[in-house]
Amino acid sequence: PLKILTGQKALVTGGSSGIGKAVAIALGEAGADVVVNYHSDEDEAHEVAETITSAGSQALVVGADVSKEEDVQRMFQQMKDKFGTIDILVANAGLQQDAPFDEMTLDQWQKVISVNLTGQFLCAREAVREFKQRGVVEEVSCSAGKIVCMSSVHETIPWAGHVNYAASKGGIMQMMRSIAQEVAPFRIRVNSLCPGAIRTPINSEAWNTKEAYNSLMKLVPYNRIGEPEDIGRAAAWLASDQADYITGASLVIDGGMCLYPGFAHGG
Ligand code: NAD
Repeated sequence: PLKILTGQKALVTGGSSGIGKAVAIALGEAGADVVVNYHSDEDEAHEVAETITSAGSQALVVGADVSKEEDVQRMFQQMKDKFGTIDILVANAGLQQDAPFDEMTLDQWQKVISVNLTGQFLCAREAVREFKQRGVVEEVSCSAGKIVCMSSVHETIPWAGHVNYAASKGGIMQMMRSIAQEVAPFRIRVNSLCPGAIRTPINSEAWNTKEAYNSLMKLVPYNRIGEPEDIGRAAAWLASDQADYITGASLVIDGGMCLYPGFAHGG
């Protein structure tokens, strides 16, 4: 891979599995030193860190619950102690707690909003604080800092049975755009990646049998499931100066899932 992130310091939340793991590795392979945050799987986080160090970058494993302010602040302090600063935040941690709407508990609603939306708020706020007080470091990047929010096609596609999740992703869209508007004068870029169906543990029942996979493909004009590396490559590029001047954007990475596949044959 091209070393488009040489010398940059990155933090990836939920970096021990799925998309976050692929993003952490892609940033490391692009030359960034990476903090791999995990919530529950420390061993897997260390494996991700080893892959990054064998690619020639540094890695630090930090456990933290992104929905807790004190955890997030401690994580940023640990990053600062080890790497000195932060250039790239990929706010990726997220989960689902599905239920028919009339059976959804307040706990299920609040859990998903706390991790998916409040967790991104807390991490983005700490990152912006550091970006603003430090400013641009020209040897490292043309911008003062970059935030990549992991959203979803469900920031726009409604999702029955997943009202809490879709609400969290719709919230991420307007949070991202509003932060982007506010911090652009400080040369801080804020964008979202919107994955479609990606092969990770979060949605294994949608792809781990042939029947489920074939049914999923009715929603994917490109006719293959997305791989975590599809998102990793996009994150590395979007965080790099190759994407300078892009801010406030939602980049859909979905094999055409947002193209109303039901209309593919005219109707
Ligand atoms: P995943 O379950 O493998 O990854 C989610 C990660 O977040 C896990 O490592 C988990 O431990 C971590 N996490 C959960 N709660 C946390 C907390 N409180 N603090 C810190 N970390 C926490 O699933 P994934 O598919 O890799 O999901 C990553 C992101 O991508 C999520 O935001 C998800 O909504 C988004 N996404 C996934 C898909 C997909 O098809 N897989 C599609 C669109 C968006």
